Amino acid sequence: MSTAYRDFQLQPIAGEWRKGSGERTARVTNPYDGSELLEIQLATRDDLDAAFLAAEKAQAAWAATPPAQRSALLQRVVAIFDARKEEIIDWLIRESGSTRLKANVEWGAARGITLEAASMPGRVHGMTLASNVPGKENRVYRKPLGVVGVISPWNFPLHLSQRSIAPALALGNAVVVKPASDTPVTGGLLLAKIFEEAGLPEGLLSVVVGAGSEIGDAFVEHRVPRLISFTGSTQVGRGIGRIASGGEHIKKVSLELGGNSPFVVLDDADIEQAVNAAAMGKFLHQGQICMAVNRIIVDESRYDAFVERFVEKVKGLQVGDPDDMATVVGPVINAKQREGLEEKIATAKREGATVLLEGEIQGQLVPPHVFGDVTAEMEISREEIFGPLVGIQKARDEAHALELANGTEYGLSSAVFSGDLARGLRFAQGIKAGMTHVNDMPVNDEAHVPFGGEKNSGLGRFNGDWAIEEFTTDHWISVQHAPRGYPF
Ligand code: NAP
Repeated sequence: MSTAYRDFQLQPIAGEWRKGSGERTARVTNPYDGSELLEIQLATRDDLDAAFLAAEKAQAAWAATPPAQRSALLQRVVAIFDARKEEIIDWLIRESGSTRLKANVEWGAARGITLEAASMPGRVHGMTLASNVPGKENRVYRKPLGVVGVISPWNFPLHLSQRSIAPALALGNAVVVKPASDTPVTGGLLLAKIFEEAGLPEGLLSVVVGAGSEIGDAFVEHRVPRLISFTGSTQVGRGIGRIASGGEHIKKVSLELGGNSPFVVLDDADIEQAVNAAAMGKFLHQGQICMAVNRIIVDESRYDAFVERFVEKVKGLQVGDPDDMATVVGPVINAKQREGLEEKIATAKREGATVLLEGEIQGQLVPPHVFGDVTAEMEISREEIFGPLVGIQKARDEAHALELANGTEYGLSSAVFSGDLARGLRFAQGIKAGMTHVNDMPVNDEAHVPFGGEKNSGLGRFNGDWAIEEFTTDHWISVQHAPRGYPF
């Protein structure tokens, strides 16, 4: 077994592991017990400038390498993921408060997208098109974008960084990553160590650790990146979209933003299955998942039966140390997140929701809270919760359930339960979202299937052929084989 990676006080910037050149440092702590994991000197605008320029310089030679060479590199990264599985999982638990279950899920998702990316270099294809001009041939080449800037969140840091980094590099781009301040190791530094061990040439992957509020604008505005691949909140994404498409250096932007997934239980649903799916889809990673169940909408004829079984199930979920195999609900990421959830609980009560289940908040451990008699107007229905709270609404019938499901600004994931698959499919087709799962939870991600949202949940798609589309661009090159006759 290889020795564990250390030196996370340093950042890989422009081909060299060094300290950020800022004067300020940031402490990264374990969300469960508050212990300090590391103190890191923050990067500045100069550091990100150096990272982007080195990426630009290294990219052309990388894009010219044979596809098989890039593919082999990604396969070596997969092998390192396997060899270092326990080390990676341990970091996810300590840095992001992931339970063992979630850390395993995340490790698998990040490994899966790396394996998928390993096949991408050989899957890029251009085309030829007939021309209306005599003697002309039209070719469309598919080529890398150049440099990709990745900004990722703290909830699935390893996977949500890697789902941009791996395809971007596989397809011949260079990458600069700005991980979330709460998770610089799993969101970037650990991945950089893995790519380095796999033999990625210098300068192709830099990680800059700094607060989004301080270096974010400079990152997005920079001349070099041709795509900003952003995953995070709708609020920050809006600002990034404005700068990327309206600033001095116009660039492509992909925005994977917040969600407010409806979980619909129709009158012919299997209640037991629906309860199990709702519990997993709500409480995995303490509800801090963009696709998490945000609103449970139940046909009024099955409301009492669902509520009784759901509350019974959720009462039995273990809350506590994320390192304990049996824990389902670990700590939320930080004090700010906990305070936001406390406010949401108080607002739900003030707005008249019935408390079906609650518990005492201790430190960053927020036990599951379930509210009944929730309406579409209440804050817990309108807003993304991103925590272990959920409200249950009654629908009069199928049409009302669909109206409620579509009644928010978001459109990321969704789920519907019905005993009649044709009905479930019809209902799914009526949902305005990028992803809908019939008789399953809304939390799903497969490395070869398109992932992304509609409305204020964002722009663009990850995974499979959609990632190839996202991280490459078209270049029309025509060849005039015979001299063209011009009118003058
Ligand atoms: P966030 O506050 O938007 O932060 C995301 C990233 O953006 C972090 O790296 C953050 O850096 C950075 N950032 C903050 N302000 C910035 C600015 N002005 N310019 C550039 N970058 C900036 O989101 P979060 O709280 O980490 O994550 C939770 C949100 O992400 C939820 O809304 C969730 O639904 C969404 N999400 C969406 C998906 C999806 O696939 N659609 C997946 C996961 C999460 P700092 O950490 O330094 O502030």
